[in-house]
Amino acid sequence: MENKLFGKPVITQEAMRRRIKSLGLKIARDYEEKDLLVIGVLKGAYVFFSDLTRAIPLPLEVDFFVVSRQKDKRRKDGVTVKIISDIASDLKGRDVLVVEDIVDSGHTVTFLKKEILKRKPSSLKFCTLLNKPDRRQVDVDVHYICFEIPNQYVVGYGLDYKNRYRNLPYIASLENVIAE
Ligand code: 5GP
Repeated sequence: MENKLFGKPVITQEAMRRRIKSLGLKIARDYEEKDLLVIGVLKGAYVFFSDLTRAIPLPLEVDFFVVSRQKDKRRKDGVTVKIISDIASDLKGRDVLVVEDIVDSGHTVTFLKKEILKRKPSSLKFCTLLNKPDRRQVDVDVHYICFEIPNQYVVGYGLDYKNRYRNLPYIASLENVIAE
């Protein structure tokens, strides 16, 4: 049902439910014989992570990074990505799947890949709810993508604007949310 406060969804709850169900089964097939550790990137991925992991019928383990991104004029790429809270798991020899809310410039995925590879996992893949390919500044390999979206700022289903709207149960365009 449409939430009267925030207008028309960009991606509905029903579309997400269907897509996540089929993606969960695909991931389960790909990792059937593996030792899967799924790592969520907080805060943005918290809702997607919860739905996705429940759609993967495997005895997987979960862990979480809390990451922050800040504008940094001193850097050529203009951003600094930092781990604010680290995972507790040892990644050596593990099959690691990182779950992101959205891949935009690609800097966060690039940073996390470098950090995780230092810890010698047996394999590493990335999964994202949303992909904005038009905004890419660095090439990244994202193995599982739920939805591609155009260049617009979206909120809901874990994604925020100034830390609000994460609890909106679908993806909405920020323009619509603020206009309401
Ligand atoms: P990247 O490092 O790929 O540029 O950025 C990924 C991060 O940027 C996401 O985890 C998210 O925090 C933020 N981001 C990028 N686009 C959007 C958007 O449309 N909405 C929201 N809420 N966050 C975004």
